[in-house]
Amino acid sequence: MGSIKKGTRSSAVSKKTSYQAGPDAQQKIRRIIDTFSKINPSPTTELKYRNPYELVVATLLSAQCTDKRVNEITPAFFKRFPDVYALAKASPKEVYELIKTCSYPNNKTKYLIELAKKVVKEFGGKIPDNAKDLQKLPGIGKKSAHVIASTLYGEPVLGVDTHVFRVTKRLGLHNAKTPDQTERILSPLIPPEYRSKFHHWIILHGRYVCKARKPMCDKCPLTDICEYYKTERNGA
Ligand code: SF4
Repeated sequence: MGSIKKGTRSSAVSKKTSYQAGPDAQQKIRRIIDTFSKINPSPTTELKYRNPYELVVATLLSAQCTDKRVNEITPAFFKRFPDVYALAKASPKEVYELIKTCSYPNNKTKYLIELAKKVVKEFGGKIPDNAKDLQKLPGIGKKSAHVIASTLYGEPVLGVDTHVFRVTKRLGLHNAKTPDQTERILSPLIPPEYRSKFHHWIILHGRYVCKARKPMCDKCPLTDICEYYKTERNGA
């Protein structure tokens, strides 16, 4: 596991705000990596996909929607639209019919077709293989681009969604107000080789244990390093 370079923490702190890493964030991150490496050495996305195109489509559909619902939608979608070329020629009505059970189907229909057209026109029909270019695709923001790039290509970038934001804040790793701030603060503190795993570990932990409304602290292996547990549950 790597260590923080001198000055890393201060560079992660915005000069305009006081958002920053917690005082012992580095030690806690080390502990989280050690713990989850033993419990779940190879974490990955719960979205079902067979190639980069399918992961990009599934990730776009998963915004504000559960992975379970997306996995119910995608088999029929990929049967009808097996690649970007088929999707680029799709009619909005047909796409909408296939994805209408997920959230924001109108916007996602538009984005999916635009995304396919852009990949065909500007990337030769090949899904971009890095986070920077993935962010140029309609409907793919920074978080999604980081998750796709790290999952598919091992790029050392951290994806921060609402689960990662919430869980890492409860643990006291930072005091950020947004996922973007969280990503900027935490990325330099997590060894590059662990950034992809860290994202998946924390997502899974947030989904099944450290739930938004009621965290299941009695099932958590991180109580001894958790600020929320210390202040809210343990009465300290
Ligand atoms: S102790 Fe509770 S609040 Fe803290 S990370 Fe675990 S489940 Fe979440």
